[in-house]
Amino acid sequence: MKFCSACGGPLAVRVPKGDNRPRHVCNACERIHYQNPQVVVGCLPIWGQQILLCRRAIHPRRGFWTLPAGFMENGESTEDGAARETLEEACAEVRGLKLASVFSLPHIDQVHLFYRAELVEGRYAVGAETLEVGLFNEGEIPWSELAFATVRNALEQYFSERAEGLYATRAMTLRPDGDRV
Ligand SMILES: [Zn+2]
Repeated sequence: MKFCSACGGPLAVRVPKGDNRPRHVCNACERIHYQNPQVVVGCLPIWGQQILLCRRAIHPRRGFWTLPAGFMENGESTEDGAARETLEEACAEVRGLKLASVFSLPHIDQVHLFYRAELVEGRYAVGAETLEVGLFNEGEIPWSELAFATVRNALEQYFSERAEGLYATRAMTLRPDGDRV
């Protein structure tokens, strides 16, 4: 960030008065341009014993499998965002969303939220940003071809909880290598 989005003036990085972190501050109008983590929201769409996965048509991780997920938009709830992403990427409607996993990724300044959700009527199709969509039993999950560590962790949590018959909401921090802290 080099120029102020309010007045076009040049930005400097300094600690504003009363703050304790360096920020982008406009030299002309004094506006402080805060940068905060982005929220990614997604679903584990469930149909019987199967989970819906999408193969990514876009970078990063093109060709790898993921749960439908994406950046939350302004003006929507996390549930609405997770359902919207599922509709966009897999043309799939979901209902009964229950928050399952919250991942903090401090090394990339993101928070990822995944909801367990019922896939309505088991219907899906290839959506924008997707090469292929499919329903997978636990034994068919392409573990070595998953796009992101959060997707792997969310799936591991789901199958482990399903085996125990007890679901919970879990929060965890992931390191850059994808390991849990
Ligand atoms: Zn300015």
